[in-house]
Amino acid sequence: MNRRAMQESEERFRQLVNNIDEVFILRTAAPYRYVYISPAVEKVFGLTADEAVADPAHFLSFTHPDDAEFVRKTMEEAGHAPRVEVEYRIIRSDGEVRWVWTRYQQVEVAPGDPPLVAVVVTDITAQKDAQRAEASARAEAVRANAAKTEFLSRMSHELRTPMNAILGFAQLLEMDELSENQHESVRQIIHGGRHLLDLINEVLDISRIDSGELALSTEPVLVSDVMDEVMDLVVPLVAARNLTVLTPVGDVCHEHVLADRQRFKQVLLNFVSNAIKYNRNSGEIRLTCSTRPGGEFAITVSDTGIGIGAEELERLFTPFDRLGRENTGEEGTGVGLALSQRLVQLMGGRIEVESAPGVGSSFTVLLPRVETAGPQPGEQGSPAAGAVSSTATAPGRYSQLRVIYIEDNLANLRLMEQLAARHRGVKLIHAMQGRLGLELISSSQPDLILLDLHLPDMSGEEVLRRLQAEVTTKDIPTVVVSADASPGQIRRILEMGASGYLTKPFDVEELLRWFDDPHRMEGAVP
Ligand code: ADP
Repeated sequence: MNRRAMQESEERFRQLVNNIDEVFILRTAAPYRYVYISPAVEKVFGLTADEAVADPAHFLSFTHPDDAEFVRKTMEEAGHAPRVEVEYRIIRSDGEVRWVWTRYQQVEVAPGDPPLVAVVVTDITAQKDAQRAEASARAEAVRANAAKTEFLSRMSHELRTPMNAILGFAQLLEMDELSENQHESVRQIIHGGRHLLDLINEVLDISRIDSGELALSTEPVLVSDVMDEVMDLVVPLVAARNLTVLTPVGDVCHEHVLADRQRFKQVLLNFVSNAIKYNRNSGEIRLTCSTRPGGEFAITVSDTGIGIGAEELERLFTPFDRLGRENTGEEGTGVGLALSQRLVQLMGGRIEVESAPGVGSSFTVLLPRVETAGPQPGEQGSPAAGAVSSTATAPGRYSQLRVIYIEDNLANLRLMEQLAARHRGVKLIHAMQGRLGLELISSSQPDLILLDLHLPDMSGEEVLRRLQAEVTTKDIPTVVVSADASPGQIRRILEMGASGYLTKPFDVEELLRWFDDPHRMEGAVP
């Protein structure tokens, strides 16, 4: 290359370096001396290239004091490592703090000469700001989600506590000698209360799913088992409508799908209940199973009912939309299908609907099919099925059953007192605080402990922990009675050593079974 061509090439290079946003610096490794600094230094650091070259110490002092130490170390390293990079803050001459990303690279300029260090500095303040904004938005979303979860668990608790009194006292009244009219009124209260409870559970489930809080435990589930359980539940309803149920012949439903057993049952029950409710009298319900290509297994519930119009089908999964059936006399919340759809999606499946007004509807749940060898845990016929076992203690062993109930809610206390008064031989002692309850228990050694979890002085969980840690109390059966119905919590409490867990509103019969036999074992843990 001749001299002129070289000058032109150098000039082009200089123009390029002068025009880029990055600051380009060429310096000696040691002693520290700048050979070249590009004009972009003024935009980034707020001082001219001449000022920077003239006083390296002044230029270096722009580094933020908090980052100065590691920047110094990196620069030292850059003296012998071929390539080094670092991110740090600078304080410009006008006081503004900026983030820079600096890369150092050794360059051979002429053979035999000591290598120089090429430095490229990029202003990354905008990127850092965006990253910070994103991180704080993420933190805010996490916080909002935590607040929603907290709200849900409070709501659940606040709604269930009064429901316990409503349903409990109504069930008590039902046991009394009442006139037919009074009986009917009590039945209405119980019916309405249970409907409200279903609604509360469904709405809370939907909210839990939407906030990612609902945990499912999927396992291979035998479809025919779940179908049988669902059909057993609806026998009286089917009879009342004089419906014919057609179930598949042979082994077509004897297949496993990957599902949360309880939730799969809930979805199928929702389909079957709807097929009953929206059918015509003396109509038909048909259950079918089929394997679909792509590894799906389909379970279909068809009816010969009123059907659903094309325009209504679009609103089928909208919560609270009952498609105008509010005044038909068929009870419902309009939430069942919305919840079913979310549950099925969570299990990796989907729902298909076909319907013709006046002819009938078909609801299909499609779930991943699984090949299994032999019976699965929890299946009917397997030894692990329904962990309810009979106990060594025969009912009636106690001449008097001494029960300590630790609870601070007066309505619940009164309900329990009345239940105890009806049960021959039960003597109920109550404590409204955890500490007092613990003292009473160790001094009187009761036969059964009933324990609420929300107590004024300490948590019920702490009471349970102390009872379990003490030799004299750890074998006294303790049943937790709480409005908190989350499966995770129930499992934890049972693992801590509680004998049972009753969720408020509790079923009176279920409680009485504990009075009959405090040493019975709790059924399958959810
Ligand atoms: P609901 O509690 O009202 O039954 P769902 O969410 O289960 O709530 O169903 C929503 C609506 O879809 C129902 O109110 C009804 O109008 C319609 N629907 C559901 N299943 C059927 C069916 N098998 N036949 C006709 N209409 C149905």
